[in-house]
Order: sequence, then C-alpha cells, then structure tokens
Amino acid sequence: TIDGQEVKVNEGMTVLEAAKEAGIYIPTLCYHPDLTPYGGCRLCIVEIENMPGYPTSCTTPASDGMVVKTNTPQIQELRRDILELILTEHPNPCLTCDRKERCQPFDICLRSVAVTERCVVCPKNGQCELQEVVDYIGIEEVTLPYAYKELPIERGDPFFERDYNLCILCGRCVRVCQEVRGAGAIAFTYRGSQALIGTAFGRSLQESGCQFCGACVDACPTGALMERNRKWEGLAERQVITTCPYCGVGCQLELHVKGERVIEVAPGSGVNQGQACVKGRFGITEFVHHPERLTTPLVRRNGNFEEATWEEALDLVASKLASYKQGKVAVISSAMCTNEDNYVIQKFARAVLGTNNIDHCARLCQAPTVVGLVQSFGSGAMTNSINELRDAGCILAIGTNTTEAHPVIGLEIKKAVDKGAKLIVANPREIALVRWADLWLRHKPGTDVALLMGMMRVIVDDGLLDQSFIDKRCENFDAFKESLKGFDLNVVERITGVPRNQVVEAARIYATNKPSTILYAMGITQHSHGTDNVIATANLAMLTGNIGKPSTGVNPLQGQNNGQGACDLGALPDVYPGYQAVSDPAIRQKFEAAWECSLPAEPGLTLTEIIDAAYKGQIKALYLVGENPALSEPDAGHVRETLERLEFFVVQDVFLSETARLAHVILPATTFAEEDGTFTNTERRVQRVRKAIEPIGNSKPDWWITCQIALRMDSKGFDFEHPSQIMDEISSLTPSYGGISYNRLDEGGLQWPCPTPEHPGTPILHTEQFTRGKGRFIPLEYKPALELPDDDYPLILTTECSLYHFHTGTLTRKIKRLSILRDEELVEINPKDASALGIADGEMVKVVSRRGEVIAKAMVTEVSPAGVISMSFHFAAKIPEFIVCAVRVERTR
Ligand code: SF4
Repeated sequence: TIDGQEVKVNEGMTVLEAAKEAGIYIPTLCYHPDLTPYGGCRLCIVEIENMPGYPTSCTTPASDGMVVKTNTPQIQELRRDILELILTEHPNPCLTCDRKERCQPFDICLRSVAVTERCVVCPKNGQCELQEVVDYIGIEEVTLPYAYKELPIERGDPFFERDYNLCILCGRCVRVCQEVRGAGAIAFTYRGSQALIGTAFGRSLQESGCQFCGACVDACPTGALMERNRKWEGLAERQVITTCPYCGVGCQLELHVKGERVIEVAPGSGVNQGQACVKGRFGITEFVHHPERLTTPLVRRNGNFEEATWEEALDLVASKLASYKQGKVAVISSAMCTNEDNYVIQKFARAVLGTNNIDHCARLCQAPTVVGLVQSFGSGAMTNSINELRDAGCILAIGTNTTEAHPVIGLEIKKAVDKGAKLIVANPREIALVRWADLWLRHKPGTDVALLMGMMRVIVDDGLLDQSFIDKRCENFDAFKESLKGFDLNVVERITGVPRNQVVEAARIYATNKPSTILYAMGITQHSHGTDNVIATANLAMLTGNIGKPSTGVNPLQGQNNGQGACDLGALPDVYPGYQAVSDPAIRQKFEAAWECSLPAEPGLTLTEIIDAAYKGQIKALYLVGENPALSEPDAGHVRETLERLEFFVVQDVFLSETARLAHVILPATTFAEEDGTFTNTERRVQRVRKAIEPIGNSKPDWWITCQIALRMDSKGFDFEHPSQIMDEISSLTPSYGGISYNRLDEGGLQWPCPTPEHPGTPILHTEQFTRGKGRFIPLEYKPALELPDDDYPLILTTECSLYHFHTGTLTRKIKRLSILRDEELVEINPKDASALGIADGEMVKVVSRRGEVIAKAMVTEVSPAGVISMSFHFAAKIPEFIVCAVRVERTR
C-alpha cells in the first residue's frame, strides 16, 4: 500500500518502481531504469511501516503487505535539507550557466515563474530533472552558504561539452558507461567535497576509451553534459520516431525537430532499448543538413555539370534509357534505400527496361549468406533475434568486429557475458570483443572452414553431437561426417595457425553450453569461398541442435541499414521480391499479371558481371541509385574505367560521390529524414522510416524519381502517391511480407515471415521444420584463399570497419565531428613486419597489390598479427577490398 493506495507489482520490483507503476511520484536524481539501484542522492527516501529510519525506495524491494508513505512532513523536511546541500554547489537551480555575470536565479526564478520563462540562458531549461525536484519539494530559498565549484567548461571533445559546475554527482553517467556500455571511460575522481566526474589521469575522453555513444549525455539529469551543437537550440517542436540509416541493427531513433531542422537525435526504444552508437546519436543532423547535399538535378553538358529542372532531367533520362532496352542496360539499387524504393527500382528494371540485370552491394557482403543458408536451411537470413543473445549460454563470434560494425549488438554480447555466457571470438585481429572473450581463436585469414570443420570433428569424436536432432530434422549427415576425416587436428593447426588444444576447447565450450549461437559478418562472407564458410556455420549449428530454438542459430549481421530489405525486395538478378525465382514460369506469370507486362525469363547479371559487361561494351547504359562502386568495388580502378566507358550513366544520390562525378545525369535524392518508408533490419524486422522534415532543396524521394521516369516511358503501375501504397503492392505479391502494412507497423516492427494480417511475425526461424523441409548437412573441403602471399606480395591485406565511419564514408566523411575521431586511412601493421621493413609508427607507406596501390599512414600495433596488415574501406583508395588480398608494403621515403 503506497500513500493509501493498494498496488500490485511483480516480484523483484523496488518500492520506487512500484510507486512509478501506480503513478505516484517520488523525487529522485540518481535513479535510472536501465541501471542497478544506487541510493546515492537519498531524495527517494520513504517511510515504511515496521521498518526503522527512512530507507531509499530505489534500493528497497517491494514486498507483500508493505505499507509505504512517500510524502510525510518529516520526509519532505529531510528531502529539503538534502536538496539544499546539492543546490549550494549548483551555480543556480535553473541551470543558468553560460552567462559571464551570473544571474541571481533564486530571486528571479524560483518564485513560481512558469518553467519556460525561468531562465533563458539555461541549456536544459524545461527538461531538467533538478528543476522538477525543486518544484516538487518547493524550495524557495537556499539558506546555506554557496560553495560553487567555478570550474572551466570542458570543450575539448567533439560532440558534447562537460560543465561540471552543473554536475550533482548522481553518478548516472559513470554507471551507464560501465554497466550498460561496458566502456568504463569515466569515473568519480577525488572524494568528499572535491569529488568530480572525470577520466583516469585527466586524459581526454578519446584517450580514456570513450566511444562517444552519448549514453552519458542521455542519462545526465541536469545540463552538465550537453551535445554541443544542440545546446542552445531550445526545446524541439516535435519528435519523430524513425529507423537509423547506418548499420543493420535498425536502432529506433527519435529525431528532434525545430522548424525544418533536425536539431538532435536521441535513441528510442525498440531493438536498441534506449541505446545507440556514435553514428546514430551524433552522425545524422550534420549530413542531413550538409551544405554539399545535392539539391537540384545536374546534367553533364560539354564535360561540365549544369543545373537542370526536374522536367528536363527526367525527360532526358526516360528518352535515353528507352533506347537501351533489352539487355544493354542495367540497374544498381541500394541497401541504403527503403524497401519501397528497392521494390519500385527492381520493378522498373524488369517491367520497364525488360531486364533482370539488377543487383546491389549485398553482392559484396552477404550474397554468400543467401546462397549458403538457402542450401542448408532453405532461407538466407538471421535465424534468431537480437534480444535473444542475452540469454545465450555460448556465443561464437566469428568474422565479426561487432563492437565497431554493429555496436548495439556488441552491447548485447557484453550483457550476455555479464550474465555468464561463454564467448568465443574467432578473428585474426585482436578486436575489442577479445577483452570479453573466454577464448580467442586467432586463425589465419581465410581459414574459417578448416577451423569450423576442426571444431566439428572434435564434437563428433567426443560424442557431443545432438544425434536425435540430426536424425529427426536433418539429412545427408553421413556424407558430411565422411568429409570431417580430412580435418585431423594436426592439419587444422597447420592450416589455421590455431593450437589444437584451443580448437578442442572451442568445440567443447560451444557444444556443452547450450543454447549456443553463432554470429558472423563480412569476415566470413567476403571471401572467394564465402559460401563454404557460411555452410560451415550452418553445419555446426545443426550438428549440436543449436537451431530453431531461442538464443541459438546462425546469425549473419547485415552491414547496411537495409541490406536485408534490398535482398527481400528483389534487388537481385535471379529473384523477384520474397526470393521468388525469375526462372519459375508460374511465379513469372504471377508478376506479369500483376504488373501488366511481359518479363524476361533468364536471370540477369550480378553487380560484378554488370561491371565486366560494361567494361566489354555489352552493357551501354546504367541507372545507379545510392551506391558508390567507384569506392566500394574490389577493383576500384577497373570500375572507374568501366563507368567512364558507359554511353549513358545516371546516378541518383544524396551527395556528389566518387561515382556520381562520372555520371551524365545526377538526380538529387532525399535522405531517410525526408521520406516515409520501411527498412528491414538484420533480424528480418520491418520497421518504419518516418518523414521528419520536408525535402532539402529540390531533392525528391528515390521511389518518386523512379516512378516519374517509368511514367515518362509510358509504363503502367507506377502512379503511387505514397510509399504505403507501394507496401500494399509488396504485401500482395510477396508471401513473407503478406501481413505487413503501415497500419500494423505503427504498433512496432514485424519480423518476416509474416504471411497474413493476423500473423504476429516470426522471431525464430526453423522451429518445427527447416524452410526447405530437412536441414541439409553439406560436406566441405578446405580451399585456400585465391590470392595467397608470395615473394612479390608477401603480406595479407584484410579490411576492417571503424566505429566512426560507415561503408564508403559518403555520409560519415561529411561529418566533421566524426572525422575528428578518425580522419584518414591507417595501415595497421604488426611490429615484427614494421621492423623488418624499417617502418616507424606514423610513417607514410605505400601498400601495393596486383590491382593498385595507395599511400596511407602506418599504425604499428599488435592488433594485426605478423604477416597481416589491415585497412578500412571508408576512405578513397585504389586497392581491392576483399578480406584476403596479397600486398606488399613499401616505405615512401
Ligand atoms: Fe545506427 Fe547501427 Fe549505431 Fe544503431 S548501432 S545507432 S543502427 S549505426
């Protein structure tokens, strides 16, 4: 019973949480729902019958029959004393901070002036929890002498300012950094009246390991931590919930909008549960409003781009593309675009241009997943959901630098480890996750099949396999078992470089700590034998029965925000939306009837084949939306030459990318903040993208542009007025999206397959049977990487992702504040190799492969093993981007 009101709550809740649930306010400044109870500010004290003293409600578990009072004169008196002590150190209670001459807020503000008028110079005015508490307790005067800290504001870090004069030492920032983010970059420094929040040895945040995720800013109840760019913008006029445009996690974000400006981005709830990473939190407003945004159509005339009207540009594109029908034309779509954009673009390629030559950049990252998992399971996507990770008994993270490339999934892994899960990291580089791992397998790049088959050999030899699962749910086991004979542990050790005892340990940990789950990313797929790697993970999951159950599965992490959706919606040369084969006559007839056209029967060319065909002059015109192959393709020099050979090249994009510079016509597209639509995240969850502001300049949504070209080519079925109508058409033709509509998505995301309007979506695949019926074991043999080191190119180059940049950096390199954290390419090189080559840390070096060369700064580090160098692909370079590529490194002096 709280304040006379009977309250029913779940066991394990605190008194504070029980009161909150019953709508009873108890003041607090250190409580945060995502953190363990702390009891630091003491403002949440209550009286509890038969309990001595005044316990803090945030640390006291609610129990049956408990009688609580939250608001007696004694409690309020004590709270007033506590709060006054806090206020003696706070420059003023309404958080005035940046005035040269401090105002006297106690006289001005605390005498019942409306909150919004309190003090115009307070950056947190109207959103400050201290204001709320002062209001509730009703302090009108501070009787104790002031003891202001008079500290300089810390402005040295790129995204936020730290004004410790406004800090009330609630410790939320320290705790969120440690407990939720696992970073521990900040701590309480000094003690007693000298206590402050800071970093070890007074280092900068960057030096102390801060990831600039902004969780501390979000947790701060006062104006002590504020995002610099937003600090003086005042209150937002509206908040729009949408989906992050960067990686495949699909974090939900709140865009805070004032007028037609996005002034701040805060993490929302959903898959990310109130968290985001530096790109989602601080990497959006600047690119959306960047002065270099393309805002008007451009047409190349006499070698120079000239501005054109939409009418001129669309007429030109339509008339030119019409002359290249029937196999001479290709379309490249984008994993950055919405599902609706991708649907319309592939429909345009097939129904209007009459070609299946449509692909997108998933070809370079997750195509082996689709091919491999379809063979093993019948469907090529993440089998389980992100939030199941925390309940896993074992996580095998192979070929994924999760904390950098999928930071919010990285948090889930850390949570699982905190709860007792075993973590096996298999990665040639000493990635950050290694710090949390029970076992780190440092295998040689390109030897994943040997490593996984070695583990499976141990599981079979030790009898740790799940024979009943295999018998009941799978097929072809005997042939697969036979293929394990080639993976004697001596052989595995020689191929992978991993000591045999570690292979044995990994196998036993994975097989005996169920539920076990496998996560992988481009370190598995971006190989010439990437499909074999994927199949090996599928074999391992089936062998131990770790599939079709909660917290198990094979979970490929999509690199881009809508890599999954672009594949689902048929931006692929061999399938229509929903992976329905173009070569199946019945399926083709279904689409022909719906689209009122005749469709080509032969699968089209893949992205790499399109580039090759264009190089040879077989493809003469290319319509490319939102991709940057001049930077992302393996042989970038070859791609540029190819694009220059095209007779007609149209690029639709947000910025003038390296690729767009080579176009004949550039059509300016909107960003995700200016359009409605959906993205499908890596766990197959279809989520809304919501328009927050009007299009910048004269830019237009991708779907609208493509429809306008199609309509000018006298095509039917492109007269959509809103993306929701496109989704209705998608669901009518795509069984796995059959039950998805904008109405339903307003309630939250839906995971496919979702075949009917009543279906709740599918968090876990293959629960009763595999999509293909029985799971298929596929025998494997080890194939070395196509390009191994030799005398001319003695090192292996592997690629990595930086937390601060995304893909080819078209968006993130525009963001100055991200570039402060990482503004150039670095060549990670092991000290042994550096010393053999006479290369010093920070020296400029030339990296030479068979296809090109690039000059970049050397970073001498043990992170890369001897014989392997590592670079990102976020910055302009002329070298290949495969995970394994032979190179040599030369000094430039
Ligand atoms: Fe965006 Fe991925 Fe960061 Fe989430 S983890 S905020 S989806 S970039």
